[in-house]
Amino acid sequence: MATDTYDVAVVGGGTAGCFAAATATRAGLDVVLLERKPEAEAGHIACGDAIKGTDAFPDVIDREYLREEAFSNPNVRRAVFENPLSGNDLEVSFGDATGTVLDRRRYGEVLLEEVDRLGAEIRYDTVVRDVVQDDDGRVTGVRTVRNGDASTVEAEIVIDAAGALSILQDRADLSGATFDTDVSYRQFCSAYREVVTVEEPVPWDDAIVFKPTKELGYLWYFPRTPTELNVGVGFQMTEEPMELVEVLRRDLGRREELVAPTVEDKLGAALPTRRPYDSAVAPGFIAAGDAAGHVNPTTGGGIPGAAKAGTWAAEVAVEAIADGSVDEGDLWAYNRRVLTDFGKRFAAMDLYNVFGTAHDVDELAAVVAAMPGQQLVDAVGKKGTADMGLRLKIETMLKTWGHWSLLYELYRVHRKAAELKAVYDDYPTTPDEFEDWRTRRDAIVDDVYEITGADPKY
Ligand SMILES: Cc1cc2nc3c(=O)[nH]c(=O)nc-3n(C[C@H](O)[C@H](O)[C@H](O)COP(=O)(O)OP(=O)(O)OC[C@H]3O[C@@H](n4cnc5c(N)ncnc54)[C@H](O)[C@@H]3O)c2cc1C
Repeated sequence: MATDTYDVAVVGGGTAGCFAAATATRAGLDVVLLERKPEAEAGHIACGDAIKGTDAFPDVIDREYLREEAFSNPNVRRAVFENPLSGNDLEVSFGDATGTVLDRRRYGEVLLEEVDRLGAEIRYDTVVRDVVQDDDGRVTGVRTVRNGDASTVEAEIVIDAAGALSILQDRADLSGATFDTDVSYRQFCSAYREVVTVEEPVPWDDAIVFKPTKELGYLWYFPRTPTELNVGVGFQMTEEPMELVEVLRRDLGRREELVAPTVEDKLGAALPTRRPYDSAVAPGFIAAGDAAGHVNPTTGGGIPGAAKAGTWAAEVAVEAIADGSVDEGDLWAYNRRVLTDFGKRFAAMDLYNVFGTAHDVDELAAVVAAMPGQQLVDAVGKKGTADMGLRLKIETMLKTWGHWSLLYELYRVHRKAAELKAVYDDYPTTPDEFEDWRTRRDAIVDDVYEITGADPKY
């Protein structure tokens, strides 16, 4: 069996893998990127394709080239949340910022082109089947199969960017490390999307549109161009399974503004809707992107998290390799970087997901329908406060009559989310303090189970 040796082996040629490979290659390391798909299919991934803009991406690839090639609708200025109960839409303006809907296939291709241009070796058609570990449990490489030929890739560090439910984590024995193995289907969402063309331009091509579904998920309509839309639907795996294609067909059929929709492409996938891994490192091993739960658990947005985490994983790998030691403590800075950055926000958002699983979607929609739109946006947005005049307060109190206990519960979860963020800000600087930190964090999550009556998610 052939054996090749590299400084870094990156498994997966999606967002996290490409940013990791690009970063490590730029730093002068010998890098191989292993992707199971053929070259013609790589980058073709199930996604809603909506992101904020170029700012979402670290400056390690040619972002201008990416924008020119793959930002098919760079002028998204608002999000619209349809409320099927009240018929009143909630609209959130992006202010000065603009969002983007990507041509996801071209986006994936450009990232791989960049990795190639920077000088990493890319092996397509290469399925990673197993992880190689030494007697102390350190990950030293992976076993692959390419067109029926088995081989071994040895590396100082393996970066697992193989996406949701990564096979590497099934195969590796990480029980001696801090690496988060508390992963179950309850923490995932199943999603399906189509790319649809229509004969008349949609009137909302400057908006991304969301609509809740009964199964505690949502439908989305993201315009790539005025006549080409990414439409999809997802649901939490804790809920009753739903017929994704059926639900989507029904909703598409009801929309008069979608004239003669034709399906151009369809794909489905699982995505994590959980808090980021408490630790995504083990000796010789780092996980990034969906493989480490780096997705906003309420929106399902995972591209920016994957790009940042892939970059940071490689930066930490470069330093550890230069220092000659790749133990857990040498890679620990990566955990702290992720969890004190977007990780703490995602962990806090996850508490609202826990709250959501304890309630019926009609009940939640009724409260949303009764609240004044802008105040609701402010309350859940970055400000975290909502300022209301006396008259509006009284009107809101009357409208939300019958839902006050739910609102109070939400308020208490909101307080716990703030506490949780403070604990994540205090994420330890070494693995020694990790268990103490985890005990403090778990106490807050336990409080949320108690407040909401939700089944434990972890
Ligand atoms: C339906 C849907 C809609 C979404 N909508 C949005 C959205 O609108 N905006 C947003 O920001 N995010 C969205 N997301 C999430 C986003 O797509 C992911 O978070 C992001 O793609 C994660 O990137 P990644 O690199 O971690 O994983 P992936 O993009 O999944 O890449 C993993 C790669 O690893 C390869 N691979 C897997 N196993 C192996 C193996 N054993 N050997 C070799 N290669 C392997 C795969 O082929 C793949 O290329 C959506 C996800 C889904 C499923």
